[in-house]
Amino acid sequence: MAAAFKEVWKWSGVDENAAGGPAMIVPFGGVNFVQLEGGSALVVRVKKSAKTKSRPNIRIVELDDGAKLGELATRRQAQMTLRPECNVPGGRRTFAVYGDIPAGAQGAEVEAYNPGTQSVDARLRVVVLKPRPVKISLRVLQTVDEAGKPAPHSKLKFEPERLLAYLNLILTPQTNIVVSLGSTKPTPLLDEAKIAKALDLKAPKARLPEVVSFDRFKDLLAGQRDTDAACTIFLMKKVGSGLNQNGSVSREVLGRMDSNLNIGMVADNDDTFFYARTLAHEFAHFLGRYSKKGETTYTGFDDLHSDPDQLMHQGGAGWRIPLAYCLSNFNPNY
Ligand SMILES: [Zn+2]
Repeated sequence: MAAAFKEVWKWSGVDENAAGGPAMIVPFGGVNFVQLEGGSALVVRVKKSAKTKSRPNIRIVELDDGAKLGELATRRQAQMTLRPECNVPGGRRTFAVYGDIPAGAQGAEVEAYNPGTQSVDARLRVVVLKPRPVKISLRVLQTVDEAGKPAPHSKLKFEPERLLAYLNLILTPQTNIVVSLGSTKPTPLLDEAKIAKALDLKAPKARLPEVVSFDRFKDLLAGQRDTDAACTIFLMKKVGSGLNQNGSVSREVLGRMDSNLNIGMVADNDDTFFYARTLAHEFAHFLGRYSKKGETTYTGFDDLHSDPDQLMHQGGAGWRIPLAYCLSNFNPNY
């Protein structure tokens, strides 16, 4: 079997399909993990810099006994409640990579050297990334129940800390974006005259419908955003899109994001996992609006239609963020 560097588990910040060969990110001052498949006799080392002849920027340490593997086990343990499928594959060598000094987008190179043939049988690019801290506000829409009392629009239990944990589980290993929570107060939409107007109804009053159209309510919600957070996402039962007449929605969607107004909407889907997945997808439309360091495109990051493993696949099927998008849009702090 040809030797190759592999991710330890899905979406952990190793991009096996990066242009030019496998690549990974390591947080500045932190650690990430990678495995080597089919290279039991190879010497794994950081490649010397052509200029300085030193081995710069990163350290790579093989996790070859129980004590050292503990570091990886600790990380796995921290993820188990959210991702029980995280298992460390056997039959491969496992390494911890430490990011001591950032070294630009090209990063440093790890090589698996074969002393017998004196060839390099596998390579790995390692990019050290500084954190990009972002604050998100998550606010549940509040409507009125049958008895006319304020009640959450979604019946799903609202667990902001858990949703935050999911966001960081997806974003931090792959981009070193570190999300914190802003306001988690409910957002009342109780003014029935304003609701009727937003729905373009002839009736003077209306209650919030089960499917809330982003296009009809975004202006009302823009005034309710947490200005202390970079982005506010409103959570509700169902989200609609479009401006049909008589207040109906053109189509139901999982979520929407307006990267100019810094607000989004996410539907609960009766499923915490799906909810978190959609939340991460919509948030990433906003996060990826930075085209380069310092430049911002307010249209947001586009959906990618090809690969359901990707976070930005339309519909948000997967969680993968390729390294190229990380460096170009999500976190250019290399
Ligand atoms: Zn999308």
